[in-house]
Amino acid sequence: MKKNHKYIFVIGGVMSGVGKGIASSSIGKILQSKGFKVNPVKVDPYLNVDAGNMNPTEHGEVFVLDSGLETDQDMGNYERFLEMDLESEDYMTSGMIYKHVIDKERNLGYRGKCVEAIPHITEEIITRWKKSAETHGSDISLIEIGGTIGDYQNILFIEAARTLKIKHPQDVMFIMVSYLPVPGSLGEMKTRPTQNAVRQLNSYGVQPDVIIARGPHTLDIKRKEKIAIACALLTENVISAPDIESIYDVPLNFERDRISSVLLKTLHMRTKAHNGELEEWKKFVEKRTKAKKQLKIAVVGKYFDTGDYTLSDAYVSVIEAIKFSSYWKDTNTKLTWINSKDFETNPKKIEELKNYDGIIVPGGFGESGIEGVIMTIEYARKNKVPYLGLCYGMQLAVVEFCRNVIGWKDANTAEINSKGTHTVIDIMEHQKKLLEEGRYGATMRLGAYPAILKSGSIVQNAYGSKEVSERHRHRYEVNPKYVKEIEEAGMVFSGTSPDGKLMEYAELPKATHPFFVGTQAHPEFKARPLHPHPLFTAFVEACLKTPTSSQSHPLK
Ligand code: GLN
Repeated sequence: MKKNHKYIFVIGGVMSGVGKGIASSSIGKILQSKGFKVNPVKVDPYLNVDAGNMNPTEHGEVFVLDSGLETDQDMGNYERFLEMDLESEDYMTSGMIYKHVIDKERNLGYRGKCVEAIPHITEEIITRWKKSAETHGSDISLIEIGGTIGDYQNILFIEAARTLKIKHPQDVMFIMVSYLPVPGSLGEMKTRPTQNAVRQLNSYGVQPDVIIARGPHTLDIKRKEKIAIACALLTENVISAPDIESIYDVPLNFERDRISSVLLKTLHMRTKAHNGELEEWKKFVEKRTKAKKQLKIAVVGKYFDTGDYTLSDAYVSVIEAIKFSSYWKDTNTKLTWINSKDFETNPKKIEELKNYDGIIVPGGFGESGIEGVIMTIEYARKNKVPYLGLCYGMQLAVVEFCRNVIGWKDANTAEINSKGTHTVIDIMEHQKKLLEEGRYGATMRLGAYPAILKSGSIVQNAYGSKEVSERHRHRYEVNPKYVKEIEEAGMVFSGTSPDGKLMEYAELPKATHPFFVGTQAHPEFKARPLHPHPLFTAFVEACLKTPTSSQSHPLK
């Protein structure tokens, strides 16, 4: 590890959901622009060993790393803002730490000592933080401690951070992301909850160096001074973080309050280099506001309530991937979430899909709403609406093709029915065993796998290369038994695992459909603001070309 390696801890005050993840990501972006190498770390204080078994509609998307670790959606924000691939060391939960310490104790790893929360858990936490810094060879670790000040669950992480501060007073700093509510009857931002949160943090032996004050409005100087005096820090160390339209504006907004000079001063550092990162970022942010075209895309799945309500947490990576590709094509895309069950109860409703320039079926699990999804795919195929199927969206596109083009009426995925004569999507043998043993956690095909693409295919043209790597999270695969017959009937498996056994991409030839592509992977996990994902970009381009395209109605 580098000498004088720096640590910035980000802790939430007052309430959850104040945007610690976006604040940390934005700080990381700003530090990168000053020439520093940063490594973000997300600490989730819950007892789950990873995020894999958590319900996405309640807890948000499960974000998968190259390594296959299933993590919190904040890791996606870090990867997107910082344009880097994160490692397993960059994510931790209390469950993961406790499990390690308890397993070590069972194996006599503590040589007869009494094993205690302090110091053994806190030491293990610090070891992991150091490992993350070492893995990236970074200058600064940016560690977001999940939860809110006052939770029982995150106390040991705050204690570990406090210990580090005592050992390295010049190299460790604390940022509290707080919230200033505006009671309806008063109409002004109130500072008291923030003051109380700082007092509580003080009671753990920690003093924040910076307070990021989230709230509906920009913080005026009077309130900044009030917070500064009450919480014992300099007025310039209180940063205003008003609600804004796009999360990608946050780094630029923080810099309006000159957060970088506060951070560098606190950590006894000097700017390394101005590398223009924020200039590039600014260009990207402007793309959003200057977009001249618009698209309407339907996202059809089983979890959704129909309407403008966005499942923004459960499918955040898909949403962002579409945004990036759209912005760089001077387009704003409106996603509409459609509950596939609506088509099952009212088949006529399928006609409403004519109002969209493209259709996405994202990943998912289980049986409900699946027939409605298959109806959607049939509509997209027959009406030549650009279609992008992500994971389940590819599997069900294969099922639809087998049923309605080949005529295997009982074609299905084993996830729904494995008793029919045409189980065209099947479970892998070793996956079957795991399920029989009732082992669910971290047992799917997870993480980055390479694929070889067919020359001249839509996907190969989109990626511009023959070999690609994407992240996976699924149990089922195209059944190799049927590949030949499906291809003879006209669907092309345009990307496979290097040994040719696993079907990674399926598409319809360009001559028969403008854009009909499915992938077994989750390419959305690799989309970045400054490097939009080529497959999403190809899809957006195809949507812009369709006759249904609302580009003929440019934004006012
Ligand atoms: N349910 C499917 C499987 O497990 C697809 C999973 C997904 O879409 N991520 O294979």
